[in-house]
Amino acid sequence: MHPRNIYLQTPDFRQLATSYPPLQDFLQPHSNLVDFQDEEAQRCITEALLYRDFNLKVQLPKNRLCPPVPNRLNYILWIQDIVRACQVVTGEQPVTGVDIGTGASAIYPLLGCRLNPCWNFVVTELDELSAKYAQKNVKANNLSDRIQIVMASVPGPILIPLSDTSQTFDFTMCNPPFYSSAEDVAQSLEAKEFGPNAVCTGAAVEMFTEGGESAFVQRIVKESVAFGTRCTWYTSMFGKLSSVGEVVDTLKANCIDNYAVTEFVQGQTRRWAVGWSFTDIRLPDTASRISNPNAFIQRYLPPHNTIRQPAKTSNKVVEDALLAIRGVSVESCSSHFLVNASGDTWSRTARRKQRRRMEAEVENSLPEMILTCSITISGEYVEFQWVRGRNRSLFESFCSHVSRKIASSR
Ligand code: SAH
Repeated sequence: MHPRNIYLQTPDFRQLATSYPPLQDFLQPHSNLVDFQDEEAQRCITEALLYRDFNLKVQLPKNRLCPPVPNRLNYILWIQDIVRACQVVTGEQPVTGVDIGTGASAIYPLLGCRLNPCWNFVVTELDELSAKYAQKNVKANNLSDRIQIVMASVPGPILIPLSDTSQTFDFTMCNPPFYSSAEDVAQSLEAKEFGPNAVCTGAAVEMFTEGGESAFVQRIVKESVAFGTRCTWYTSMFGKLSSVGEVVDTLKANCIDNYAVTEFVQGQTRRWAVGWSFTDIRLPDTASRISNPNAFIQRYLPPHNTIRQPAKTSNKVVEDALLAIRGVSVESCSSHFLVNASGDTWSRTARRKQRRRMEAEVENSLPEMILTCSITISGEYVEFQWVRGRNRSLFESFCSHVSRKIASSR
């Protein structure tokens, strides 16, 4: 679970029913539980949590997916981490997100808007009934001016909102139909990829797509290549671990090296998400990597953007080390520093070139050579956070250089 998820502990359903009386009908006698195999009870829990915890009035139709709130909240909180990392570079501003296949609940844009007063959404949906309910739910919560619903069609593009050239977007998100066919469902159940309650009230359009989730998201990757930086981060959730590997391979095949892999764990159910960007904005490891990966997923994680060096040092020592580097600007705030460099002046090669008066050559390579790095000092370590840049070796050589300077000052 995401550390900011308010459902770290299972809700007390009896207490929940006092805030949302329709849930009382589903409580089991003498316990705090409800029957999770009962579709109607599941819908009622989702409605109750959205109502009590987010002041959202949501109506869910019988024959469509019932979104579990804790898992959907995990995805929104991860997106919030991504948006916050981008705001370090771009500053605070209105945020526009895209939700592909918003479903009858419109749960992502509703949660996103409730938690973030300056977020807006353009969302898509293929299914008429779901779109009708999504529209109702958006309206019931007075969010029609912040959430726009666009109809999709098959065959047709998936990232429809991005073809509006008058707009730029901060993120896209998607909970795609997971399966390619009914056999695929049976196989996944056998492989226990899904929790016992996962396949519940979904209609065919919600559960199936040609080639399953992996093919769906690979289509999104291909479309995103054409849109590039018109959207800052593209993301999708996955129900199968194998799809994560397939999509990361597609990113690499398209030379996209700025990507993130995370997981959402809720009880017995595990989901994954992948994000990628054509910008030079880098995410902290807390958002771009899984902290305790299994051997399979380890292979698909991106390299570290957060480097922690054990060191007991002082703000003064770090500041002196930074100010001694030629051509960097340093902003400091107690034990936190933000460093901007417009070229490599610290590596051995750069210093050698400088000695040979070859600065012109260094200057020529400037566009690739922009680096923003934040540095935080704590009692036991110095943490370097790559914030911006395209050149990984520049970031790594900067960290080694500063670490060496700090060590030699002791
Ligand atoms: N976002 C919701 C629903 C996810 S189910 C939730 O997380 O609960 C997947 C949704 O994608 C369904 O509503 C389905 O109708 C929709 N969908 C399937 N193919 C689509 C496409 N090509 N474009 C837009 N939506 C699509």
